Amino acid sequence: MKFNTSLLHGNFKEDPHSGATTIPIYQSTAFAHKTAEEMERIFAGREPGFLYTRLNNPTIESFERRMAFLEKGVGAVSCASGMAAISMAVLNCLQSGDQILAGSGIFGGTYALFESFKALGIRSTFLAESTVEAFAAAISKETRLIFIETLGNPKLDVPEVKRIAEFAHANGIILVVDSTCTTPYLIHPLELGADIVIHSTSKYINGSSNSIGGVIIASGRTDWDIEKYPGFKPFQKFGRFMVLAKLRKTIFKDFGTCSAPLNVYLTSLGFETLGLRMERICANALALAQALKDHPKVNFVNYPGLEDNPYHRVAKEQFSSKFGGLLTLRAGSKENAFKVINHLQFALNASNIGDARTLVVHPASTIYEANTLEEREKMGVYEDLIRVSAGLEDVEDIIDDFLNALAQL
Ligand SMILES: *Cc1c(COP(=O)(O)O)cnc(C)c1O
Repeated sequence: MKFNTSLLHGNFKEDPHSGATTIPIYQSTAFAHKTAEEMERIFAGREPGFLYTRLNNPTIESFERRMAFLEKGVGAVSCASGMAAISMAVLNCLQSGDQILAGSGIFGGTYALFESFKALGIRSTFLAESTVEAFAAAISKETRLIFIETLGNPKLDVPEVKRIAEFAHANGIILVVDSTCTTPYLIHPLELGADIVIHSTSKYINGSSNSIGGVIIASGRTDWDIEKYPGFKPFQKFGRFMVLAKLRKTIFKDFGTCSAPLNVYLTSLGFETLGLRMERICANALALAQALKDHPKVNFVNYPGLEDNPYHRVAKEQFSSKFGGLLTLRAGSKENAFKVINHLQFALNASNIGDARTLVVHPASTIYEANTLEEREKMGVYEDLIRVSAGLEDVEDIIDDFLNALAQL
């Protein structure tokens, strides 16, 4: 089954009760059962069924099954947000004393989250580059998890997932990959060796910025160095489902980071057009990058689709010659960056990405305002940087919009 077909038919079943062709919004907190015996069997996991929406719900399960199919994993857990998905995916694996290795180019929210883990005794080390060489230099006997983004937001670095997965496994460490900015349209991290992939579905998967959400998908790999992860020992009997079983039976249930059925319903609708939208978004981003790269008022355009970009070769190979919807430009100064943003007519000034509309933001004064100058430089967040998330508009209008705004400088 090819990509667009799998968005519509992969693990999709119409509603079993009504035949409704979109899965209904099961806006119910709880699910009643005929007998106490039946309820007991469902609680024990001996019989499928629904109990309470904090644990699962038919609308949510439908989306999880489709996401798992698309990512080629053994199963998925939908969470209230991308941050909830990252929190749950990481805390499910780690305990006090463990160390995380991550690149500095990762999303600011994730960077802040990993800093917060310090209070739980989980130490994070942020490296200048997400490369095998950098991870090898930083590894310690406490390292338990490597965290990378397929396309760093907003640094737009492109780590070599397969090489990093091989390095991680050779050292008995797990690899968690955030594929929010690439989506399964560009890459399947689990096929390249990642153990867990997460998405903020708030972005491209939803596609219209109408619901916050996140999802965790597990690979089902079983040859873990289990002595390093004692929390998983009671769950080893679940085999390929070990990670998801622990997640569902402990931390996901206990922290209460479940999704709302309405949000998941809206995200399921967006999911079906992911391929069409990503095709358009990637084409628009490339055209915009090409139109601006030699503009006299633009100091630098960062887009992995440009041939002289340092990540072009890796991106081309990993993403099958598509390069995603994010680009950044440097306008020379913060003042210039603000001026350009203020003069854009179509591109909205908003801090998210992956919307139907083109979006821009000045990261240094917004998402990264709490970081020091030094941290920002490491993350690729410069004072004059504008991040652009390409939308679905006719590209001529978007290019004109930027040319007009730049003409104000
Ligand atoms: C937005 C984003 C997140 C966080 O997701 P939310 O849904 O906003 O909680 C995590 N990772 C990346 C790469 C993101 O862009």
